[in-house]
Amino acid sequence: MNKMEYYTNNFIYQIIDKDLMNGRIKNIRTRFPPEPNGYLHIGHAKSICLNFGIAAKYQGQCNLRFDDTDPVKENNEFIDSIKYDVQWLGFKWSGNIRYSSDYFEKLFNYAVELIYNKLAYVDELSTEKIREYRGTLTELGKNSPYRERSVKENLILFQKMRDGGFEQGKACLRAKIDMSSNFIIMRDPVLYRIKYIEHHQTGNKWCIYPMYDFTHCISDAIEKITHSLCTLEFQNNRPLYDWILNNISISDNPRQYEFSRLNLEYFVMSKRKLTKLVNEKIVEGWDDPRMLTISGLRRRGYTATSIRDFCSRIGVTKQDNIIEMSLLESCIRDDLNKNAPRAMAILDPLTVIIENLPENYEEILKVKNHPNKPEMGMRELPFNQKIWIDRNDFREQSDNQYKRLVLKQEVRLRNAYIIRAERVLKNNLGKIICVYCSCDMNTLGKNPSDGRKVRGVIHWVSAFYALSAEFRLYDRLFNVPDPNKAKDFLSTINSNSLLIKQGVVEQQLSQAKIMSTYQFERIGYFCVDHIDLKKAKIVLNRTVTLRDNWQK
Ligand code: ATP
Ligand code: MG
Repeated sequence: MNKMEYYTNNFIYQIIDKDLMNGRIKNIRTRFPPEPNGYLHIGHAKSICLNFGIAAKYQGQCNLRFDDTDPVKENNEFIDSIKYDVQWLGFKWSGNIRYSSDYFEKLFNYAVELIYNKLAYVDELSTEKIREYRGTLTELGKNSPYRERSVKENLILFQKMRDGGFEQGKACLRAKIDMSSNFIIMRDPVLYRIKYIEHHQTGNKWCIYPMYDFTHCISDAIEKITHSLCTLEFQNNRPLYDWILNNISISDNPRQYEFSRLNLEYFVMSKRKLTKLVNEKIVEGWDDPRMLTISGLRRRGYTATSIRDFCSRIGVTKQDNIIEMSLLESCIRDDLNKNAPRAMAILDPLTVIIENLPENYEEILKVKNHPNKPEMGMRELPFNQKIWIDRNDFREQSDNQYKRLVLKQEVRLRNAYIIRAERVLKNNLGKIICVYCSCDMNTLGKNPSDGRKVRGVIHWVSAFYALSAEFRLYDRLFNVPDPNKAKDFLSTINSNSLLIKQGVVEQQLSQAKIMSTYQFERIGYFCVDHIDLKKAKIVLNRTVTLRDNWQK
């Protein structure tokens, strides 16, 4: 990967430059801390590019840490997918993978330290009561009746929580801060709760689990993270982040900085909502090509380069906004336009018979795989008496705007000859089933000698040497730019987000690798999903159209 990609300037780079200049910090350490409760999405890619990009720029380190404090929704499938996606995006974490759960014993000891310092207590109020006592923005909180327990009693009760002496929900550990703080988060936040649930890393060792706010800052400090970057919604949690670190015996306090989340039009980025799309089978799975997950984008034909390019184009700020889909698409289009081999495909086949060729006519044409990249080589394209063209590339009558094949007129076959449509054959429903043409055999790679003008160029595939193909054409998954605004985001699902077409492609694609992407001339970019051996058919996902169709 070209490290220069990240030598962009954003406010976080400026903070780091300053910290390095005034000597606050020598070695830069960042981390990417996903919770393994879903697959990564394009928003995570923004955070990944930022954190790993900083490490690359400053020759520092970036850790991959699973923030695994809530075993209810977490599992190893998610862990594996996240590892795979980070690597696929082109990044390498520093040292071993870390887990917040690696620190459970240490975290427990820090909690005990807070109790010793009279800064934490075991509360036995119910969850509802705790919420009620917390107050609101306009109303101060109330102290819990359990707040003034002695250190000794708290130590005994906290150990009892750990030992399984309480039922779930009957006790929790809270920080003792200030029930009238302007920051609601500082009104004695819960640090530990009881959950009798097996953990994917620690099994049944624990029945108390630390909360995110308690875990995150301490994990950062243990790993000597210098800049802990998170999204803006954690801004209010920062006083708690600092309070915890300032009140335990840990040095090298990291600092938290916030940036705005990535939102993209016509999509939702919350894992809760994505989980719902998967669980309710509205999409095929986390890697459904309509999902803006990393795995969905990959299956759709997006390259890691294009995603990194997107992340550097959107930049990092503190402004909340919604990015247009056309920006993401232009990134993959730029990449594939440069790098995807060309081929021809017919989405809606119409038979053409070239009458002045013998039935067994066969000519092998040599064709470039890429117009500007000779290093991508040539391929052989068989040309025969019977070929297929796209049904919408022929009309019996048309005006001059229509640059394709019209009855009694000529058109060029891409990479081949000029043909003229002579007559059509229709079935008894009036549908055209075959166009009979003649071919000017003196027009391969050159214009007609008498200076005749042809309407345009159309693509085609030999009918003798073609591979059956299924084309999956994807549209936006939601009907509205911001589905989050709807009462029920599922009510804004676009029921026409997938259109399937059965057609043909050049036979050479039978050798295509899964996940490879082609530009089908005049149609768009397509990625090989799989080859259906039983039906001898290739299945392709449309990555993106040739041009931007969003601005319509
Ligand atoms: P969700 O709210 O959807 O569950 P999350 O923020 O809880 O998302 P995590 O797995 O905790 O998801 O996120 C890991 C990291 O990725 C965090 O540092 C988080 O701030 C960052 N991140 C998550 N979503 C986005 C986004 N849309 N844009 C930028 N960064 C994001
Ligand atoms: Mg989270």
